[in-house]
Order: sequence, then C-alpha cells, then structure tokens
Amino acid sequence: MGKPTGFMEFARETVRDRDAAERVSDFDEFHTELDEEERRNQGARCMDCGVPFCQSDFGCPVDNLIPEWNDLVYQGRWDDAFHRLMKTNNFPEYTGRVCPAPCESACVLGINEPAVTIKDNECAIIDRAYDSGLMKPRPPATRTGKRVAVVGSGPAGLAAADQLNKAGHLVTVFERDDRIGGLLMYGIPNMKLDKGLVEKRNGIMALEGVEFRTNVEVGTDIEPSELHAQYDAVLLACGATVPRDLPVPGRDLKGIHFAMEFLKANTKSLLDSALADGTYISAKGKSVIVIGGGDTGNDCIGTSMRHGCRSLRNFELLSKPSPSRTAEYPWPTYPRLLKMDYGHVEAAEKFGGDPREYSILTKEFISDDNGHVRAVRTVRVEWKKEPGERPTMEEISGTEQLWEADLVLLALGFLGPEQGIADTLEVERDPRSNFKAEYGRYATSVEKVFSAGDARRGQSLVVWAIDEGRGAAREIDRFLMGSTVLP
Ligand SMILES: Cc1cc2nc3c(=O)[nH]c(=O)nc-3n(C[C@H](O)[C@H](O)[C@H](O)COP(=O)(O)OP(=O)(O)OC[C@H]3O[C@@H](n4cnc5c(N)ncnc54)[C@H](O)[C@@H]3O)c2cc1C
Ligand code: SF4
Repeated sequence: MGKPTGFMEFARETVRDRDAAERVSDFDEFHTELDEEERRNQGARCMDCGVPFCQSDFGCPVDNLIPEWNDLVYQGRWDDAFHRLMKTNNFPEYTGRVCPAPCESACVLGINEPAVTIKDNECAIIDRAYDSGLMKPRPPATRTGKRVAVVGSGPAGLAAADQLNKAGHLVTVFERDDRIGGLLMYGIPNMKLDKGLVEKRNGIMALEGVEFRTNVEVGTDIEPSELHAQYDAVLLACGATVPRDLPVPGRDLKGIHFAMEFLKANTKSLLDSALADGTYISAKGKSVIVIGGGDTGNDCIGTSMRHGCRSLRNFELLSKPSPSRTAEYPWPTYPRLLKMDYGHVEAAEKFGGDPREYSILTKEFISDDNGHVRAVRTVRVEWKKEPGERPTMEEISGTEQLWEADLVLLALGFLGPEQGIADTLEVERDPRSNFKAEYGRYATSVEKVFSAGDARRGQSLVVWAIDEGRGAAREIDRFLMGSTVLP
C-alpha cells in the first residue's frame, strides 16, 4: 500500500475550481490540478483495503485497479500508474473529468472520513501521460482482415473501436455529426471536458488505424443493410437520443427548447467560430428557466451563465435530497445527495442564492403577444411513500406561481434510441424501446449485429458506456475469431 498512516495524516483535497465569478466569462475548463506533492499525498490516503469496495460491483463499472494505482501515485511512479490505468479504462481522460465517481461512494475510508480522491488521481495520471508523451499511438502489430462497422462515436462506440482495433480488426466508425465523440463532443460542455482533448484522443485512435467517417447518417446516407452485408460485424452504439418532452399547454411557444438543441448548437458554434457565427441559441439578457435537474440541467445552467443570462431558475419535480446518506442509501451504494454542481455555484454567486426549486410541477407555458414564452405557471407538489410502494405525488392546492421566462430549456432526460436502424434491420427492442441485447453478451436478435451503451441500457453514464463498449468488443472478437484475446 501507499503510506500506512496516509489517511490519518492528510485531509482529502479535490481539484480546485477557478473562481465562479471569473470562470463564467469563458468556456475553458474550470478545474485546476494540485501540485505534485499534494497529489501524491492524496494517493497516500488510500488504505489498500483487503476488500476494495471501490472496484467492486458497487464501485467502478470498468473495475479500475484503484488501490494499485493510488499506491503508484503516492510513490510518484506515474508511468507505471498509467499502464495500470489503461488496462481497464480506454478513456480515463474523460472519466477523470466527468465521472460521478461511484468508486468514491464505495470507498471504505468514506464510512467515517472523506473518501479518497480516486477520480482526481485518475485524471492526474492520464494528464501527466499526455504531458510526458507516454500517451501516444500504439498501432496493433498484426491485422486479422476482419472488418467491423461501429455506428455512433460516443464513449461506447469509441471504447469498442479502440479494443477491436487493438485486437487487429479493421474498424470503421460511422458518425452523423461533423465531429467525433457523441455526447463527449456535443453534450458535455467545454468547461467540463475540453474538446481539444477529445480531438487529440480521436487523432491518436486514427493514427492507430481506426477509420472515422463523419457526416454519415446510417439509415439516410448509407443503408443499414449495406453495412450488414459489407462488414463481418456491426455494433449499434447510437446513444439514447430521443428527449422526454413536457406536453403541457403552451409547449409549442417560441423560446422553449430541448436541452440538447441548446447545448449542441453552443459547442458547435464555440468550436467553429468562438461563438462569432451566431448560430446558437443565446441566453444573453434573458430570464432562463431550466426544467429538470441532473447533469444535463446543470450544463444548461453553466452555459446560460456564460452567455450572460439576466436571471436563472432550475425546477426539479422530485423532493430536495438529503445532504448526507440516509437509510435509503446505506454505504457502499451510490446515494442521491444534495450537492452544488458547478452551474449551481455560478448562479448562486451571481444571483445570490441556489437557483433550484424542488417539488415543483410545470403546468403551463404562457405566451406574449408574439407567440413567445413570457412566463411559466407552476404548482408545488408533495411526495408520499408507503413502505414497499412506489412514491406518489400530490399537487398542493393554493401554491400556484407564475415565473417570468423568455428562454425555457427542457432537461427531462431521454426516452431511448431513435428506432430507424433497428426497424430496418428488424432488431428486437426491450419494453423501454432500447435495442435488446443481454448485458455481457451484447448480441442482438439479428446475426452479427451487436449493441452497447445508452442505445442498449438507456440513458446512463460515460463510464458505463465505456464498460459496455469494451464488453461488446470482447464478444465481437469472440464471434469473429472463435475465442477472444480481449478482457
Ligand atoms: C448534456 C449531458 C451531459 C452529460 N454529462 C455527463 C457527465 O457529466 N458524466 C457522465 O458520466 N455522463 C454524462 N452524460 C451521459 C453520457 O454522456 C452518456 O451516458 C454517454 O455519452 C453515452 O454514450 P454512448 O456512446 O452510448 O452514446 P452517445 O454519447 O449518445 O453517442 C451516440 C452517437 O451516435 C450517433 N448516432 C446516432 N444515430 C446515428 C446514425 N443513424 N448514424 C450515425 N451516427 C449516429 C450520435 O450522433 C452520437 O454521436 C451526460 C449526458 C448529457 C446529454
Ligand atoms: S471511472 Fe469513475 S468509477 Fe471508475 S475509478 Fe474513475 S471516477 Fe471512479
């Protein structure tokens, strides 16, 4: 283990965020790294537990070898730490930035002390590998001659492509957007995950032999049946891109947008022209209401703050969570907790209070004379839960309110994948409209067609997409070769 007394000597220190008032003037990343000694001390806090719950089923979905590389961080053996890390995770540069870190919720130290800074240590290892040149193209020594088509370039498709390429297969990734990365590129905003880093990693994969074909929509520009005929296997990693709507009166008014319309257009304009082309939905000078909590809602808040909105509110239908674990979420489960994410902090700093309203239901959008939204009508709700039953919601009479708004962003989650490709290939769906394939096997009902990531499991996390992409690659390799060399 690292330092036997490390967890008693050193307090938890996370990456430091740039000042909230200052960082809203740009879209640059807001985390800044600790210095070498501080980072090594954070590695020293790991207790190398007999049973490392951080890498159990409660913890890291890709089974990162966490105590091993925490020890190497403490010793300053950065190159060894990098090689351990890359054994289990294709994209620590992404998870080290955006993962909600279920590993830390399962950390044994977290029972009675602040958990080890596992996610930040992971990020430090991979960032140093980029800085030192260790992170570089490593093309496979031999090729099998087998060809695999991957539809979708999010973390699931990219992890699968990386693994299959390592196994010597020729991989082509089809992406309908103009840039590779899926939600890593056009969902998660630049201040959380720098797009230069995504481009850099895509470039490394291209030099290793992965072929990327952008601006190609499977089902429009190329028939799914063509892919099926031309390739030895096809992986559907198209994400869960159908947004949940809010069908209340006034929904069709101008000024009401799905979160992804807002976030995608912003990042594209930022990358194309530093927001000079004006092709994005601007929140500048507007009263913004973001409906829906979660990562997507928070990213809408952070982006609106950077545009210079006049006011900002965030509505959440669910009740306010507890700031610490309750009996509902015992250790080592991943708890739903009240925490201030970066956008909430920025809005609170500028407007003088937490922008979130809990237990609030949107009833109607109200129009001005030009068919543009001018207000949102809400009512407060009460949640009740009997033991063993699902929670129920009741409106509280006399709590109706009108909220001024000229930009409303709907961040209510996603219903599932678009159905076109699955319809054409006649792939079976599950009851939630996801492409049906057993977890761990990833084979769909159609011969040589596999599915992974949000398209298979529903809306989830980057780390789960990586896990599924790796698993699907292993099963495709087994299908192509009769046995597999992939983990
Ligand atoms: C705004 C937002 C913020 C998020 N923040 C976080 C976070 O902080 N941390 C976290 O862990 N998770 C976060 N998530 C969730 C995470 O991004 C997803 O779970 C993950 O990206 C899913 O990966 P995927 O590869 O399955 O799909 P996606 O990333 O959705 O990629 C699917 C790709 O397939 C392409 N595609 C679809 N159909 C076709 C077609 N017919 N032809 C060609 N290409 C096609 C799409 O254009 C897309 O690029 C966030 C999600 C959103 C929306
Ligand atoms: S990928 Fe996520 S869960 Fe796994 S070690 Fe990194 S931060 Fe923790």
